[in-house]
Amino acid sequence: MTQPSSGGRRGILFVMTGASGVGKGTLRAEAADALADVVYSVSATTRPRRPGEADGVHYHFLDRADFEERVRTGGMLEHAEYVGDLYGTPAAPVDAALASGRDVLLEIELDGARQVKRARPDAVMLFIAPPSLAELERRLRGRGTDPEAKIQKRLARARDEIRAVREFDYVIVNDDVAEAAATLRAILTAERARARLLGDDQVAAFLDG
Ligand code: 5GP
Repeated sequence: MTQPSSGGRRGILFVMTGASGVGKGTLRAEAADALADVVYSVSATTRPRRPGEADGVHYHFLDRADFEERVRTGGMLEHAEYVGDLYGTPAAPVDAALASGRDVLLEIELDGARQVKRARPDAVMLFIAPPSLAELERRLRGRGTDPEAKIQKRLARARDEIRAVREFDYVIVNDDVAEAAATLRAILTAERARARLLGDDQVAAFLDG
C-alpha cells in the first residue's frame, strides 16, 4: 500500500479496541501486508507475562511502582486498570513516529481509547467485535491462560465495551478473519486518502508543472 511521502504529513493515530480474546492479534497477522509500514505501539503492563510473550515485543512488563512512576512523570499517553492490572501506552515512541509521518496503531481497552480520543481528536477509532459473546467466551477458555474468575471479569468488561461501540468510527466483526482483514485494509486505505492530511509540499507537488 503506498502512503503519501511524508513531506509535512503527520502520521495517523489508529486506536483499536476490542475485548481480550476477540482475536486482535490474529487480525493483525492476517492484515500484516497492510500494516507493514504502521508502527505498532508496545504497551506497558503490570500483568504477569504469558507463555510465549517477550518483554519489549508483546508488552513492556513493569512492576506497579515503576508503572506508576511513569504515569506521574507524564510518560504515558493514556493508562487504565483492566481486571486488576495496569496497562498504558508509552507516549514518546508514539509522538516520535507521528511527527516523522509514520502511522501508529494502539491496541488498548475502552477507558484508554476514550482518553486518547479526548487528547487527540484526530485519532481514528476502530472497534473489533466478536461474532457473539458465546463465541468470545469459547475463545477465552480455549486460550487456557486465565483462571475462571478472570475469564468472568474479562467477559463482563467485554459486555461494557460492546455497549460503547457507537463511540467508535468503525466496527470490524471478527468472525471470518480474512473478511475482517479486508475491512481493516479498506479502512486504512480510505483514512490515508483523506485530503486534510496532505502537507504543503504535497499540494505544491500537485500544482507543479
Ligand atoms: P491482555 O491482558 O489480554 O493482553 O490485555 C487486556 C486488555 O488490555 C485488552 O483489552 C488490551 O487491548 C488492553 N490493553 C493492552 N495494552 C493497553 C494499553 O496500553 N492501554 C490500555 N488502556 N489498554 C491496553
